[in-house]
Amino acid sequence: MILLDGKATAETILQEIKQEVDSFRQQGLREPGLAVIMAGNNPASASYVRNKIRSCEKVGFHSQHIHVGEDITQEAILDLVHDLNQDDRIDGFIVQLPLPNQINVDQVIAAIDPSKDVDGFHPMNMGNVSLGREAFISATPNGILELIKRYEIETSGKHVVVVGRSNIVGRPMSILLSRSGYPGNATVTLTHSRTQDLKAITLQADILIAAVGRPNMITADMVKPGAVIIDVGINRVEDSSRKRGYRLVGDVDFEGISHKASYATPVPGGVGPMTVTSLMMNTLKSYKKRVQ
Ligand code: NDP
Repeated sequence: MILLDGKATAETILQEIKQEVDSFRQQGLREPGLAVIMAGNNPASASYVRNKIRSCEKVGFHSQHIHVGEDITQEAILDLVHDLNQDDRIDGFIVQLPLPNQINVDQVIAAIDPSKDVDGFHPMNMGNVSLGREAFISATPNGILELIKRYEIETSGKHVVVVGRSNIVGRPMSILLSRSGYPGNATVTLTHSRTQDLKAITLQADILIAAVGRPNMITADMVKPGAVIIDVGINRVEDSSRKRGYRLVGDVDFEGISHKASYATPVPGGVGPMTVTSLMMNTLKSYKKRVQ
């Protein structure tokens, strides 16, 4: 089995981005800018935001971390979005989810200028992705497409089974791989919690993408020999042998499937690093449009 090494691939892409940023700077241009709005103190969100800011530093982006309290009002968060829409130093920004309960998330996302929506969550970007038009593809699906490209995995005519239909991972993934072109031209089945006899479907998958949030739910008996396995899940399971008291596992029983799959992503070190990197790729893309 070949490991789809998201960590190493992400490092390579970050180096490529850094070289581009250096050359822009040598031409006397400003550096690309990414901002992150985070509300409250969700530990997982804080860790994701730290990674994003660290990646900005690695590639030489200007970054801005706007951290507001859990009690922020709808009006105040919309004001922040409007300010970033107008800010010439910011090419892209994201609002880290989840947001506190009092906030209407859909309204906040709809207020983001679609040309700065590097998370690709704005309905205009989602819609253009579905129509096969130029758009920001949301970070996790974009990262998976990039991994597929870098490992030159064939998708044309393949049966892709996606487990999970969330708006941020499963559904866009199913749409993207069914589009014409590469990576795409696949026959896609999108499954979810109401799917009957999931195993009968996953056994048909040439490429299986799991985005569920249930530790190790895809077991070896659900996988066709030679399948490509992409594990999006990030789940904390108790582990008293670790200093922090838990370890991260995916939605796939990696050990079990490793004897059957042709390619597979590990967790951690697979899709996760590609997600952060694709945010950098989207920000660079927005920057190029703005300065050129
Ligand atoms: P959601 O909770 O939004 O969606 C989970 C999906 O799984 C739903 O569509 C649900 O179906 C489906 N599901 C639940 N149980 C089953 C089941 N028994 N059989 C089949 N389908 C089932 O999750 P996300 O998409 O946001 O995230 C999924 C996982 O990916 C999580 O572990 C998350 O932490 C991780 N993640 C990782 C990222 C990365 O960068 N690596 C980025 C984003 C997420 P239904 O719609 O019917 O409820």
